[in-house]
Amino acid sequence: MTSGLDLPTVLFLQKTSYIAGALTLGYLRRTSTDSRGVGLLAASFLMLAAGATLAGYAELYPALYGALSLVNIALAVSGYGLLALAFVLISNPGRKFNTWYVFLPAAATLVVGLATDFHLDNTYRAATFTLLGCLTMAAAAWVVRRDASREPLPIRKLVAAILAATSLLSLVMGLEFSFQSFPVLDVVEGFSLMILSKFVLAIAIVMFISERQRVKIQKLADLDPLTGLHNRRSFNANAPNNPQPGDAVLFLDLDHFKQLNDRHGHALGDEVLSTMAEAVQSVLPPSALLARHGGEEFVVFLPASAGDALLHAERIRKTVSGLRVSSLGFEVKVTTSVGIARALHHGSTLQDLCRRADRALYLAKAAGRDRVCDADRDILQKKFTTRAWVHDDPSN
Ligand code: GH3
Ligand code: MG
Ligand code: MG
Repeated sequence: MTSGLDLPTVLFLQKTSYIAGALTLGYLRRTSTDSRGVGLLAASFLMLAAGATLAGYAELYPALYGALSLVNIALAVSGYGLLALAFVLISNPGRKFNTWYVFLPAAATLVVGLATDFHLDNTYRAATFTLLGCLTMAAAAWVVRRDASREPLPIRKLVAAILAATSLLSLVMGLEFSFQSFPVLDVVEGFSLMILSKFVLAIAIVMFISERQRVKIQKLADLDPLTGLHNRRSFNANAPNNPQPGDAVLFLDLDHFKQLNDRHGHALGDEVLSTMAEAVQSVLPPSALLARHGGEEFVVFLPASAGDALLHAERIRKTVSGLRVSSLGFEVKVTTSVGIARALHHGSTLQDLCRRADRALYLAKAAGRDRVCDADRDILQKKFTTRAWVHDDPSN
């Protein structure tokens, strides 16, 4: 695999690969908006490159060997610490961590080096930084995997696997350096694979950040910013195009919402919309798909398995009429009209169902609002109400 490469060439490649990685990551940090930790990763690559350079100079200038190799090992320890921290922060950019803690192991290494001169031995030095690399990579792999519960990106598995493989590689090399025996990988092979692992890690991080941004953009495209519900486009994409018999669509439209806005202001109108969306979502079964169709109109897709659509519609209507939103001493009430349509036979289309539900909604409005109209059974429920909102302003 590595025939033709001598150790100095491999060490030179190692250094240049760190610099290439740092440049790639620096570019990513500049061009992406959500890149906490990426700058740290670039810094860790530069630190490892500086450490490797000093190690080279230590061989060239015997008089400075002690000092340069001590700084080399301190830089390598800091570099690995920063690298692990960078992955921890990239994995969860909201995480709080004091970066300076990362330099404690490096300070400890300096103290131990000054006290024992262990750094003068190339073997001890190599064993120290490879074993430390093993620990930090394993910790980073664990954190990246664990954060999946908070942000389930498929790329996490790949990044965690690459980190775990890098950790294993460092373990093998660390043990081999410690025992001065290289049965699995010789030094050149080991360093070559470590170079490769850094490249793969840099590429994996670019993929990770771009996947995170793709998911964010997808959310922006699919979700309504005010209520957090699916928008109409996302509803049409997620509800089945050909509903099965018994599947139902509910159209909801808040009653006299324009008056509520005119009287209490748009901001309160917005609050009513988001409160209402949350309340309706809370009474729907998990299999239902609720979306903001536009303005003060909402749509629900209910699969046949969710049970009687009429019962769900009536529960929604009651929930909305029971809501109270207060602002500046006013308590605002709101009601909704609901139209239902069910797929009656195979071959129905979502579009057809929506059209019939909208028609039923129109009938519910015409019949006095705050009621459910079933397009199929043509049942009008609930007593007649003319005022859908009231407030307790005594001057009103
Ligand atoms: P109806 O009972 O017939 O549905 O009467 P309505 O007043 O609810 O219906 P209309 O279509 O006349 O008015 C809908 C209002 O919804 C008008 C618009 O200002 C308001 N609206 C639409 N989108 C938003 C929004 O995002 N926030 C707020 N606050 N109001 C909105
Ligand atoms: Mg409307
Ligand atoms: Mg309305």
